[in-house]
Amino acid sequence: MTQSTGTLYIVSAPSGAGKTSLVTALIDADRQIRVSVSHTTRAMRPGEVNGVNYHFVERAEFLRMIEQGDFLEQAEVFGNLYGTSQSSLQEVLDAGYDLILEIDWQGAEQVRNLMPDALSIFILPPSQEALRQRLNGRGQDSDEIIEGRMREAVSEMSHYGAYDYIVVNDDFDVALDDLKAIFRANRLTQAHQQRRHQALLAQLLG
Ligand code: 5GP
Repeated sequence: MTQSTGTLYIVSAPSGAGKTSLVTALIDADRQIRVSVSHTTRAMRPGEVNGVNYHFVERAEFLRMIEQGDFLEQAEVFGNLYGTSQSSLQEVLDAGYDLILEIDWQGAEQVRNLMPDALSIFILPPSQEALRQRLNGRGQDSDEIIEGRMREAVSEMSHYGAYDYIVVNDDFDVALDDLKAIFRANRLTQAHQQRRHQALLAQLLG
């Protein structure tokens, strides 16, 4: 059996759509999938771990990395810089793993141009009310803050049309199954199966 090359996936969503929980559950369920850890200049949130959720860096360090050409893509999202470093991406794919980039629509556009074989998935919330509720956090934020988050979410969602797949996260388990189905179906394409089953095909076709 020949190892097939992995596929690069872009996963985008507005804040509040449940993207990170879904991706975490997906990689727990499927050992063939890895997630790229981005660099960011934003402050660490409670519970986040440097090197796990993000590589947290100072703005000057991030700008130096841009100058050195370290990033495959990078974008400013609501005042903070985010980027995917080039190092190790190709190694992970060549080792046969599928790799997820959890990035915004601007980064997605850059990656599509550089790597046209990448597949992209957009995760949507089930309704405006559900999104507002999820953006309300612990219910302690002012209406103004929540409306600001809603505007940012709508702005991100307006780019859904550039994506190959749309997953609506209404029921978590259904959305997770949908994600699994995308990865599974892609591994069954003729191109992937041909590489994976070279020996079988040679035997069957004599
Ligand atoms: P958060 O700060 O809430 O973790 O992420 C805010 C936004 O930045 C999300 O839309 C997320 O997808 C995006 N983001 C996270 N990492 C990257 C990255 O490496 N590149 C780009 N372009 N966007 C990213």
